[in-house]
Amino acid sequence: MKAIKQQSVKKTVFAGIELLLIRKRIKNMYLRIIPPEGEVRLTAPLRASNKDLENFVIKNADWVHRKCVEIQRRPVASPLEYVSGERHFLWGIPYELFVEQAKRNSVSIEGNYIVLKITNAGTPEDREKVMNEWYRRELKKAIGHYLPDCELITGKQASDWGVRNMRTRWGTCNVAKKRIWLNLQLAKKSTECLKYVIIHELVHLYERHHNARFHGYMDKFCPGWREIREKLNKRNEN
Ligand SMILES: [Zn+2]
Repeated sequence: MKAIKQQSVKKTVFAGIELLLIRKRIKNMYLRIIPPEGEVRLTAPLRASNKDLENFVIKNADWVHRKCVEIQRRPVASPLEYVSGERHFLWGIPYELFVEQAKRNSVSIEGNYIVLKITNAGTPEDREKVMNEWYRRELKKAIGHYLPDCELITGKQASDWGVRNMRTRWGTCNVAKKRIWLNLQLAKKSTECLKYVIIHELVHLYERHHNARFHGYMDKFCPGWREIREKLNKRNEN
């Protein structure tokens, strides 16, 4: 027997949250947040009442807000091709990229240019790899410089730290091991942003969750962190 597919889709608002309501022949309700904009989708059984939907959204409102912030924080997948003339950033400052073939790979700043010398200019991925190695070295130098300050400010010490190219977050903290990871992409943002992220991760050694207690520590150790976070999450920079 053929199942009859029934589905309706409409934009609506529940609990002050704008969402796309999809009604289907299913048993349970569920919520999804769709990147990159953080669109909220509520999928619900055909017969669920508006009251049921409202209650379900209210119950999950905190999760929705958290998830939306998280998704909008994600660094955007880079459309860069790493060719001469492109704009690339180091520590929040824009430079024009200049690519040339050479006997050894190297990246350096020369005036308003980032000069990428590469043995095999190959694909954008080859060029990105050399650039990322350079960003990694620059970021490691900067972390070596700023981490002790941030540890002094917060009164917490990381047992170890590392750099990783991450898609979804600027940093992470393994609270049990006191280890912090920082996103390679931070080398493109201002050093103020880097300090903010380091402090944020160290504050996790006091408080695991992003709650009022956590924000209290942030206000104390990094006044103005909200504005810095906004700058950090601006997408138009690269
Ligand atoms: Zn955090």
